[in-house]
Amino acid sequence: MQATHIHYDAVVSGAGPVGLFLSCELALAGCSVLVFEREADPHSLFKQLPFGIRGLSAPTIEALYRRGLLNELEVPRRLKNPFGIGGPQAGQALRQAGHFAGIGFQAERIDATRWPWRLPGSPPASLIAEMAELETVLARRAQMLGVEIRRGCMVSGYTQDDDGVDVRAGALQIRARWLVGCDGARSSVRKAGGFDFAGTEPEFTGYSARADVADPSLLGQGRQLTPRGMVFQSQPGYLAIQEFDGGAGHDGAPVTRERLQQVLRRVSGVDVGISVLHAASTWTDRARQATRYRQGRVLLAGDAAHIHAPLGGQGLNLGIGDAMNLGWKLAATIKGRAPAGLLDTYEAERHPVGAKVLDWSRAQVLLMRPEPASRALRAIVEDLMDTVDGATYMAGRVWGMATRYDLGGDHPLIGQSAPDFELGDGSRLGQHMHDGRAILLDFSGDAATQSQAAAYGLPFRHVQARPNEDFGLGALLIRPDGIVAGAWDL
Ligand SMILES: Cc1cc2nc3c(=O)[nH]c(=O)nc-3n(C[C@H](O)[C@H](O)[C@H](O)COP(=O)(O)OP(=O)(O)OC[C@H]3O[C@@H](n4cnc5c(N)ncnc54)[C@H](O)[C@@H]3O)c2cc1C
Repeated sequence: MQATHIHYDAVVSGAGPVGLFLSCELALAGCSVLVFEREADPHSLFKQLPFGIRGLSAPTIEALYRRGLLNELEVPRRLKNPFGIGGPQAGQALRQAGHFAGIGFQAERIDATRWPWRLPGSPPASLIAEMAELETVLARRAQMLGVEIRRGCMVSGYTQDDDGVDVRAGALQIRARWLVGCDGARSSVRKAGGFDFAGTEPEFTGYSARADVADPSLLGQGRQLTPRGMVFQSQPGYLAIQEFDGGAGHDGAPVTRERLQQVLRRVSGVDVGISVLHAASTWTDRARQATRYRQGRVLLAGDAAHIHAPLGGQGLNLGIGDAMNLGWKLAATIKGRAPAGLLDTYEAERHPVGAKVLDWSRAQVLLMRPEPASRALRAIVEDLMDTVDGATYMAGRVWGMATRYDLGGDHPLIGQSAPDFELGDGSRLGQHMHDGRAILLDFSGDAATQSQAAAYGLPFRHVQARPNEDFGLGALLIRPDGIVAGAWDL
């Protein structure tokens, strides 16, 4: 039976990082939001360190910073970030700044002058975070903003019409104007809506496990490529294993001590014993992406829209990028102030970014295959990554510095994340973005730019900046997600 009364502006399925971030964005803009989360208990060993370790890249760090959330995360401050821009301190060993298929690139090879818009004092380009803490901070913010989160309530289906969506979750039926599926890789919203989820099948099964290994030193240090895949022991007993079995091990069957021991022996080639298994999970490098991110009043974001191997850690970053891009557009649509076609730019902008990340993970799988051709190609890539051009390219991709939307316009800043300019009073641009509104950053005080900016149809706040001779900028129109929509030189 269809309800007629609208209960919420938006229902979000899934209180993972993407669903929570999106619900904050919607609530910040004054929308009423209900989040359904399948799990009754938000805590899980796999969200805590070391399993819950997540590398955050520049766009995610900026998103958190621009909403005043970055300082609420304690783990990135506590854990020394091994990755960063710039060379080592005097007397320090070479610093690995990141990796591609397990091949490290060095910090001192990176030429940061190639990103002139990245100003000194900007938030870091990469950080280490913990999934559990990130979700806690986002859930707290969401609740402060009035978002309702119902845990232990799984979205099972929906029907939509021209005016709204009737969402079924347990015994409940809720009517909302919009439904967003942020319910992860096996998204019920994606499946119920029959969204096409196209891509490639897995080559390997990945295992994350915490176990008491009889003699962990037998497994060696760091990533070990073997004739069957890879074994990585980040600290004694904390294992990541990849077995090139076509994904057969990711069969839903429980990972027992005996089974993990067999896999570990097979892949490492070492007769190593596991006495106790504390926890284990499996994953694959299956790479799929929804061909559409929107069907009528139903949208997808995060892992619900795209899945790929976690190699090089991009999935969370991709999902937060979706949420930051979608939030203000959906809110403007709900509030009836969106220019025509604005919501459809979500898919137009984010789908290509997702497709690139899927290919990035496929390229890594190719280099990790236990076969002679891959080993040979790997040696060449290693050499290239050891050059300034190679390391700078890798850093640009891994840290998301190269992300730019095609918004038209000639100015090189259009479509990019706005530089974090220091303003006349010593504050920085990002600190003026906590309320999620667009900004006209005015360096010249020229009244004409205000009317030029108004032509974009984005309601904005006027912020006066110190004249900036270095870049010769007159004004920037910055969207709520921090992307430059318009730029005028002096
Ligand atoms: C081993 C590993 C390491 C990784 N490392 C990194 C990294 O370093 N950096 C990085 O960027 N990414 C990394 N990732 C990927 C990252 O964890 C995911 O991309 C990210 O968690 C996706 O967030 P999400 O909110 O879209 O989905 P999820 O985190 O999966 O959250 C979805 C939520 O929806 C809930 N849900 C599911 N179905 C329903 C339903 N029907 N109704 C209601 N709720 C539902 C789930 O319980 C869950 O809470 C890694 C992944 C793995 C497996």
